[in-house]
Amino acid sequence: MEKEYAKLGKVIDGGFCIGCGGCAFVSPDSFKMKLNDSGNWVPTQHGPGALGIEMLCPMSGESENETEIASRLFPGLPEDSLIGRYGFCGAGWVKENDFRTKGGSGGMVSWLLTKLIESGEVDGVIHVVGASDVLEPDEDVMFGYGVSESVSEIRRGAKSRYYPIEMSKVLEFLSRTKKRYAFVGIPCFVKALRLLQKAGKIEEGRVVYAIGLVCGHLKSKYFADLLAWQKGVEPKLLRTMDFRKKRNSGLASQYDFEMTYVNGDRREQKSYPMAGVIGKDWGLGLMKNFACEFCDDVMAECSDVVIGDAWLPKYVDDPRGANVVVVRNSAILKIFEDGSRSGALHLDAIEVADVIRSQSSGLSHRREGLGYRLSIWGQNKWVPRKRVEPSSNLSNKRKSIYKCRLDIAAYSSSVFFEAMRVKSFDYFMMTMKPMMDTYSRLYFWDRVKRKAKKVHGSLLAKLSR
Ligand SMILES: Cc1cc2nc3c(=O)[nH]c(=O)nc-3n(C[C@H](O)[C@H](O)[C@H](O)COP(=O)(O)OP(=O)(O)OC[C@H]3O[C@@H](n4cnc5c(N)ncnc54)[C@H](O)[C@@H]3O)c2cc1C
Repeated sequence: MEKEYAKLGKVIDGGFCIGCGGCAFVSPDSFKMKLNDSGNWVPTQHGPGALGIEMLCPMSGESENETEIASRLFPGLPEDSLIGRYGFCGAGWVKENDFRTKGGSGGMVSWLLTKLIESGEVDGVIHVVGASDVLEPDEDVMFGYGVSESVSEIRRGAKSRYYPIEMSKVLEFLSRTKKRYAFVGIPCFVKALRLLQKAGKIEEGRVVYAIGLVCGHLKSKYFADLLAWQKGVEPKLLRTMDFRKKRNSGLASQYDFEMTYVNGDRREQKSYPMAGVIGKDWGLGLMKNFACEFCDDVMAECSDVVIGDAWLPKYVDDPRGANVVVVRNSAILKIFEDGSRSGALHLDAIEVADVIRSQSSGLSHRREGLGYRLSIWGQNKWVPRKRVEPSSNLSNKRKSIYKCRLDIAAYSSSVFFEAMRVKSFDYFMMTMKPMMDTYSRLYFWDRVKRKAKKVHGSLLAKLSR
């Protein structure tokens, strides 16, 4: 018993816990989910937990890894070292209805969920929804897991929530129901679900499809607060956030954020372009959950289908957004094929190399970057076992980039907590600026080269007219 206690303790105390809530579901007397001072869900530990609980934790390094789980679930599919097992690879968007305009990117996740419920394949969907729809919330949150059993509820849950969530309550709900659900989650949550299914903690037939979201990293609660506070809205006045409000022109990556906040006795809404704000740079990783620095799954390798943004030249020009998709389940493939045939979807077949290209930064951070992080962090501290080997065989520039990102992930949320305590956004900026400036300097020549290439291209176009 003592041994097991120590193992999960290392995951939690070392900052490697993503806060999925699987342990709190399995051992509710030993683990209670709480939002910590850094704005992330973590279990507070009151006892040893069930025997072998570390085998159910997606971050412990003791459980089956993503490659092993996927080979068990999708044995007939070819495997790629970066995207995992794959069947059909595609890119496109939803043409029918307004799924695309209302979605985070191409609208395919909500579209697929509605097809599953309309066809009776599932009775409902477990996904991340706004505060009023969260299942049994016991903390003041903007988003959390909820259960949707109608098309309108599913559609209300659309959009990407860069916000901490945990699933102990919905897992508990699943253990009480006899209905069939589709589950939507980021890679580590899907992995946790698979481990719980295998251990029989989730009865067979309850979750019939696991839909993964491609994931760069998860943010703490303070990411929303950071966006709002720099625009003059104090965190305590913020009510909700649309992290990806689409614009009518420009590139898919040039979206706005829209905050809803209280002003006196009125609720107000304001939108701002992400381009101009602190937090816009996904690579910099402000408010990143530290555990994400030790994850090696971008493509939700244990999911039946993974859906993300098609960050590819052919698709980024359209501000309405487009999806990249890797299908691993034949029933889901049929839904996509039918959708494409009927004209509900625009869906192009693409190569594995295109999928990789569309997520190149995330993948290099989780392979080359992770190897380096393991080599420095693991020098004199415990680190979970990963599929990537520790390695410091990379350029000094890349080392500095990864080191900088690690520091920013480690400190930004706790510095923000202090800034809120002393009621000073300047405190946050003054403390974080040296780290952000160092990071920015590392990309100076890349920016110069990109600009020169752009000027060169437009000059050439002008001269050859
Ligand atoms: C934390 C996070 C990081 C991401 N990182 C990347 C990335 O690096 N690269 C990339 O290409 N794509 C990334 N995505 C995925 C991308 O933002 C879109 O969610 C995806 O392209 C699907 O868009 P859509 O229009 O088809 O989905 P929509 O139709 O808008 O539906 C989205 C569905 O996802 C659910 N959902 C939203 N937030 C969460 C959450 N936090 N956890 C579980 N379910 C959720 C919603 O409930 C809804 O059902 C990320 C998403 C999240 C939540």
